[in-house]
Amino acid sequence: MNAAGQPGPADRIYCCRGLRLDQVAVVGFDLDYTLARYEQHEMEPISVAATLRRLVEKGYPAWLAEVSWPREFATRGLLIDVHGFVAAADLTRALATAARRHGAQLIEPSRVRRIARSGGDVTVDTDRGSLTGGAVVIAAGSWSGEIAIDGIVARVPVRPVRGQLLTLAWTGMPLRRVTWSSRCYLVPWDDGTLLVGATVEEAGFDERATVAGVRDLLDAASEIVPHAWSAGFKGVRVGLRPATSDELPVIGASERAPNVMYATGHFRNGVLLAPLTATLVADAMVDGKYDPLLAALGPSRFGDL
Ligand SMILES: Cc1cc2nc3c(=O)[nH]c(=O)nc-3n(C[C@H](O)[C@H](O)[C@H](O)COP(=O)(O)OP(=O)(O)OC[C@H]3O[C@@H](n4cnc5c(N)ncnc54)[C@H](O)[C@@H]3O)c2cc1C
Repeated sequence: MNAAGQPGPADRIYCCRGLRLDQVAVVGFDLDYTLARYEQHEMEPISVAATLRRLVEKGYPAWLAEVSWPREFATRGLLIDVHGFVAAADLTRALATAARRHGAQLIEPSRVRRIARSGGDVTVDTDRGSLTGGAVVIAAGSWSGEIAIDGIVARVPVRPVRGQLLTLAWTGMPLRRVTWSSRCYLVPWDDGTLLVGATVEEAGFDERATVAGVRDLLDAASEIVPHAWSAGFKGVRVGLRPATSDELPVIGASERAPNVMYATGHFRNGVLLAPLTATLVADAMVDGKYDPLLAALGPSRFGDL
């Protein structure tokens, strides 16, 4: 809510079954224009126009603009004014706080080893003891396939795709917009931090930052904004995105064990899709309401799950 008590951007984007993040924590959030920058040689005008048409047809305000800065490189941009961004770590902490306030108990750190079923219940064995309940949601990201489930031999085929992300201390003219090129994106925070993301690498469970990843991102950032070479280097973060072979998430109940629900495989969009996924899962588990979307996302498309 804003000071006048009217819904702000956070209301629009992060409302989910009564959880209102803006009421429990300050989540870094900005809703500014996104500038997707296209070089003449990268993208034919017709495909920029097609993207623009698709966005407008779906009701998202967007328009083409001649880019005046940085003049050396840019030719035109696609401005999308509903593209926001959020601090993922802050958002996760806020979600945990909101969940606790709604009665959830978080046990951390804790590793789930196995899920057993007896009668209508499920028992989750962890390295800190066992928990029994009516249903369980498997949301262990890239590690979702490592959890053994009694009576289900197949494992959900989620693989890790490494992403490296740079944090720079920006010193130049203030940047106002999230800017995308075909090689990277830049996210300017109010405190002067510039995020440069992200590599997409098949490196298994290797979570190291690499010289190649850092160099590629610095090159790509400097191509869009040459002043990036003068920025301070604050660090590099590494994460593993949970990907599936068809690049769609796996959301839905196991056909073998209806009280075992999957919510994984969100690849590059897990933050963006978190409210929608949470709604789909909660509606199915709590109210027995299955959205038609789930037909395309169910675990059984990957076998006997
Ligand atoms: C560099 C980078 C940039 C990204 N940018 C964006 C973006 O701009 N927008 C967007 O929407 N998404 C983005 N993503 C993707 C997003 O981060 C993922 O889609 C999202 O984190 C997936 O969420 P998840 O909860 O399914 O898995 P994870 O975030 O991987 O969380 C899984 C959790 O389960 C835990 N776990 C694993 N095994 C067990 C076990 N046996 N027992 C208990 N716990 C276990 C793990 O420790 C981990 O904490 C980005 C990812 C990276 C790496």
